[in-house]
Amino acid sequence: MDGAREALRRVFGFDDFRGAQPAVVERVLAGRSTLAVMPTGAGKSLTYQLPATILPGTCVVISPLIALMHDQLRGARANGIRAAALTSADTDWRETMDAYRAGALDLLYVAPERASQPQFREFLSAAEIALFAVDEAHCVSEWGHDFRPDYRQLRPLLDSFEGVPRLALTATADARTQADILEQLGIPEDGLIVAGFDRPNIRYTVRHRENAVKQIERLMGEEPGPGIVYATTRAKVERIADDLARRTGRPVLPYHAGLDPAVRAANQAAFVASEDMVIVATIAFGMGIDKPDVRFVAHAGIPKSIEAYYQETGRAGRDGDPAQAVMLWSAGDFAQARQRLGEVEEERRAGERTRIDALAMLVETATCRRAVLLRHFGEDPPEACGNCDNCREAPGVIDTTELARKLLSAVYRTGQSFGFGHIQKVLTGAADDRVSQRGHDRLSVFGIVGEDEARLLQPLSRALQARGTLVATEHGGLRLGGEAKAILKGERRVDIVQPPPKSGRAGRKERNRSANPIGDPLFEALRELRRELAAEAQLPPYVIFHDATLREMAAIRPTSRAELAEIGGVGARKLEAYGDTFLAVIRQH
Ligand code: ADP
Ligand code: ZN
Repeated sequence: MDGAREALRRVFGFDDFRGAQPAVVERVLAGRSTLAVMPTGAGKSLTYQLPATILPGTCVVISPLIALMHDQLRGARANGIRAAALTSADTDWRETMDAYRAGALDLLYVAPERASQPQFREFLSAAEIALFAVDEAHCVSEWGHDFRPDYRQLRPLLDSFEGVPRLALTATADARTQADILEQLGIPEDGLIVAGFDRPNIRYTVRHRENAVKQIERLMGEEPGPGIVYATTRAKVERIADDLARRTGRPVLPYHAGLDPAVRAANQAAFVASEDMVIVATIAFGMGIDKPDVRFVAHAGIPKSIEAYYQETGRAGRDGDPAQAVMLWSAGDFAQARQRLGEVEEERRAGERTRIDALAMLVETATCRRAVLLRHFGEDPPEACGNCDNCREAPGVIDTTELARKLLSAVYRTGQSFGFGHIQKVLTGAADDRVSQRGHDRLSVFGIVGEDEARLLQPLSRALQARGTLVATEHGGLRLGGEAKAILKGERRVDIVQPPPKSGRAGRKERNRSANPIGDPLFEALRELRRELAAEAQLPPYVIFHDATLREMAAIRPTSRAELAEIGGVGARKLEAYGDTFLAVIRQH
């Protein structure tokens, strides 16, 4: 491991391994096959790139997406690692193949459909292989969320190179999928290394949606860096993107399947290269994007499941700097999701319902959001994380059992066909023509809710809709569902989270919580230099240096190459390529 630490410093410029990295690297260097389950941002690529620079021979990386491969390729090359890919998008096949045969490649990327071909096996046998790395390894399992039959064909390739260790990597695999990957790829059971799911640098916030654009605008005020906003439909994507661009003056672009492919690709490329762009997208966006400096992910409506939420929010803060995940929900989102249950095949319906219930739990909890998320993935986290909305400002919980009984019984007595507005009038005794025409002013529930309780009616109705206790009908009415009967009979208690006061909705206001010293002249000059170098090399700025590296430079102000080499993220290759230029800017200040 001494050699590994030396390479970590020299090649990558990092001081220390993170989390499960040393365990994985140690096994791989010992030549033992391994399955590493590590969350997004945990640094999976380093666990094969580093051994690739130390072990004799080439590390063959099997990866399902060309975009992802090329992203990795750029990053590896920027660190001076000899890397190439054999995909339909590459034109330098001949050189790559020659380099491989000559033993002059550290990393060779290839797609599974190519890797499983017999000719490819033959080609590989011409030189020494250090390691097989199988990225997105959950694709090999039918239990995984993204099964790809091509992955099933990899086994003969792996088996024909006896003694070459295998490293399977994935960010998402439940216990069943893990067991399946081990078996499919022939990795011993003791080769399983599972890192925790926690992403401590992401701050989770869940709020009721009052006005998505205004709420996201506020978030953008706090986070000047790149962000992703997920919306559920193309129309919403377009509208939110337009509104945000107009109101904030920041670069904002839309991304959805309805856009011309060239426009879509251009918008994605612009986002990847940008230091302050916000992209508003449907969930089609994100697969295969490895941008480490995304500072926030906002959901303008509820995601599909907790798994989807974790994966989508996981795109924030991969560089380890503070980032935010903000979900905006409405009772209507849940009503729609529950209505769609009707269209789901019978066998899958119960499972889908459980997914929605789990989301409702996350939205409605007064306890730590992170704890709810981690428990969902089978972990046993501490009660409080200190970095979610509920931990930062504990909301009160109110016992609304009596009020819930009044509300449900008003829904029942009015015939389960009226919307919330009408029910509210009945309960508070605000008779209008419609109420009196229906004779609802003569019901026993008329006027039974006093002024104090009245302000809780709407939050309660939302909570009950999220839980499926109240169900929206097609015509905008409400009917009873789920636990409504048990609540009416007095068998269930109903607690809701204290609604925030009307005026200071978001609580304390935070401007620019960026970790970067924005406005600091040296930091800005370093960023400007990075921008120029990136444009010249046609690379995203983060491939040159991460923000954290520039930050350290601005704080420490190294004056020599030796001092610069001490800074995190400055490896030998980058020192050679950019060192003097950055030192010159630092000296000027
Ligand atoms: P994953 O593939 O697991 O989502 P990546 O391999 O993309 O994660 O790594 C995420 C980020 O963390 C990258 O920008 C990488 O440079 C950085 N990183 C990885 N390992 C370390 C480390 N030991 N120290 C500091 N930064 C690291
Ligand atoms: Zn918390």
